[in-house]
Amino acid sequence: MGFVNTVTGKVNIEDLGCTLVHEHLLLRSEMVTFQFPHLYDEEALYQKAVDGVKAVKAQGVKTICDPTVAGMGRDVRFLERVSQETGMQIITATGIYSFTEIPAHFQNRDIDYMTEALIHDIEVGIQNTSIKAGFLKCAADAEGITPDLDKVFRAVARAQKNTGVPIMTHSHPASGNGLKQLEIFIEEGVNPKSIMIGHTGDTDNLDYIHQVLDSGAYIGADRFGQPPLEFAKRYSTLLELLRQGYANRIFLSQDYCCSIDWYTDEQVNQMVPDWSIEFLLGEVIPQLRKEGVTEEQIYTIMHENVKHWFEGK
Ligand SMILES: [Zn+2]
Repeated sequence: MGFVNTVTGKVNIEDLGCTLVHEHLLLRSEMVTFQFPHLYDEEALYQKAVDGVKAVKAQGVKTICDPTVAGMGRDVRFLERVSQETGMQIITATGIYSFTEIPAHFQNRDIDYMTEALIHDIEVGIQNTSIKAGFLKCAADAEGITPDLDKVFRAVARAQKNTGVPIMTHSHPASGNGLKQLEIFIEEGVNPKSIMIGHTGDTDNLDYIHQVLDSGAYIGADRFGQPPLEFAKRYSTLLELLRQGYANRIFLSQDYCCSIDWYTDEQVNQMVPDWSIEFLLGEVIPQLRKEGVTEEQIYTIMHENVKHWFEGK
């Protein structure tokens, strides 16, 4: 491929640098955003994103992949503005986020219609801009892959085949649905090396994780600092996988949201009292170093894997 689309244009794949692969700069209820804009303080939301991005830039992060897609309040002009102010390379995604149903518009049209809409975001631009998506994102949670989601997963797979950009998923390891996601993608002919099964780090079930890895796909240990798995278990599972030689298959990130309107601030503070976008590079990676994880392994995880995922290697 050679280059990746960021919100401010093409970037050489060799220039991605240290990358946080799954963080949200602004996540909000799309319908509320569109219909009740007075409920939001846009400048405060913007400032939170800028502050978060500047904090990780100071830690050495050069690129952020933001998988906020349709259904999560994606706003590419917002990302562009943050990128321009901070100098951070930001890669946005296309896809449809739902755990159950999709909009009637897509329910009543076929898979290839949806595929074309996704390809438009990658090749022409998003939301009538020329800002292009760098990767694809889709999600399935405890509800499993409903008929509507099957359609989304197949459209994402076909858009991947057409454009070559990689896929990131939201999976639910407790119900093992990462394997079902892989099954659909592989049935549609996607190279597993272009797939990241996100949130695989939400389990410490190594048998399950190995089954995902055996496909050749990448896994996301991408929710450091979050429920549903406590930190000690996330951390010891990661350490074991690194001992087993999987540094070249694992992505580390936080799934941090600079803002998320699903909850009140009080609720967020209660759920994730120590939530921080600086946790991974500030706490987790230094701890890994102390326990003997090598600089080479850390470089592979934070710099190399993203290039190979974009290249389908
Ligand atoms: Zn996320």
